[in-house]
Amino acid sequence: MTEYESRPGDSTRSVHAGRPPARAHEPALPGPVFAAHFHLPGDVTGPYTYGRDENPTWTRLEEAISSLESPGTPAETLAFSSGMGAISSVLFSQVRSGDTVVLPSDCYQATRSLQGRLEDYGVSVRLAPTAGDAQLKALEGARLLWIETPSNPGLDVCDIRRLADAAHAAGALVAVDNTLATPLGQRPLDLGADFSVASGTKALSGHGDLLLGYVTTRRPELAAGVRMWRKTVGAIPGPMEAWLAHRSLSTLALRVDRQAANALELAAALLRRPEVTDVRHPGLADDPAHSVATAQMTRFGSVVSFTLPDKEHAERFLSELLLTTEATSFGSVTSTAERRARWGGDAVPEGFIRFSVGVEDAADIVRDVTQALDAAAR
Ligand SMILES: *Cc1c(COP(=O)(O)O)cnc(C)c1O
Repeated sequence: MTEYESRPGDSTRSVHAGRPPARAHEPALPGPVFAAHFHLPGDVTGPYTYGRDENPTWTRLEEAISSLESPGTPAETLAFSSGMGAISSVLFSQVRSGDTVVLPSDCYQATRSLQGRLEDYGVSVRLAPTAGDAQLKALEGARLLWIETPSNPGLDVCDIRRLADAAHAAGALVAVDNTLATPLGQRPLDLGADFSVASGTKALSGHGDLLLGYVTTRRPELAAGVRMWRKTVGAIPGPMEAWLAHRSLSTLALRVDRQAANALELAAALLRRPEVTDVRHPGLADDPAHSVATAQMTRFGSVVSFTLPDKEHAERFLSELLLTTEATSFGSVTSTAERRARWGGDAVPEGFIRFSVGVEDAADIVRDVTQALDAAAR
């Protein structure tokens, strides 16, 4: 193999991911296939039968994501209508009454909200924080360990390899929510996880215009269980969303590189402000998560979190932003920010801001935040 064939870089892989070989008079990325059913004479044979089971537009996106999450090693990806569709399909397809699941106590709040439903079904749920690999102490007898690193919204990081090895020794499966990092920031399957699960709504698709989720695994029997769950629950992506997400993958490396650089510049500017406390970003050299993050991540994501003195101060800051819009979610090409405590449910101070940098010029983002902080301080 040539050097090019053996080791294409991240931009090359994301530009070409899942695209079919060039064929005369065919498009580079075939358009979305809209079909509830496919012509199916005689006995039931694949690949395409009914639109809730399979769709060629999903197949291309799934191959693309597999090539990013698991380059060089065969893996199967299943696309879902949302990140929560993907997360709940892993949990509910893999655990049974009597099993124990270990969840992060500080993960995305909709994931944590599944605790009650799991318990109603006879599943025990143990919670432990992401920081300090605290989930290690909760693994005995567990069936599944759920990891979210970096965590949303607190941006704590845990050691995936260490937790996965301990979980496997305890007989548990390991799923990692890879939403914040994206597969260009971190590859959970290479670090020992059984499932890499994510919301494609955020940085993966990156334009703030669609919802999507996915599950990637190298183990065919695990993929089969998740596939069956998707089919029976019907949490399937629309072909248009799947196609838009695939189209967006071509710029994934460009976007996440710019976002990571912008996030560092913003974090550095925030560190110079006396009214701003607890600036967190895994790429910051003195962040508590930095050493574990550098050992397992190659890019640190678009999110910077920090705390303003109180709710009123934070609200004034948000209302003074000119370039940055107030919105939930993160990872979009446009900078967004929100006061996270407005939702309830996260253990964060009233003045806690989750800021997602876009791909604007860093100087403009920093200038916008600086003028809004100045105005909010008056
Ligand atoms: C947004 C998010 C989800 C849920 O994804 P949806 O696409 O909104 O369903 C799951 N995990 C994390 C870490 C998230 O940020």
